[in-house]
Amino acid sequence: MSAISPRPMTVGALVERERGVNLACRCGHKTALLPDQLAKMAHPETRLLAFKRRFRCSMCGRSGTSDEIRMTTFVLTTALGDRAPPVQRSPN
Ligand SMILES: [Zn+2]
Repeated sequence: MSAISPRPMTVGALVERERGVNLACRCGHKTALLPDQLAKMAHPETRLLAFKRRFRCSMCGRSGTSDEIRMTTFVLTTALGDRAPPVQRSPN
């Protein structure tokens, strides 16, 4: 799994991989955006960095153009599943 695309990560690529974005502001405010939300907020070809720059903290108003807001991505399943083992549904 070392094949990393040379192209910059885009919103569309994240959504495709069911990844969401965590934005953590220096003031302590955190925003998690699920792939569904990302898809509604930005064009799929929007670069992730550009998307971050457009973001503004709703608590203190800091801009995403600065390093004071940090962006990480997460896989949707781990965010919602909370490390629970996969549920096996049996028909009985
Ligand atoms: Zn803030």
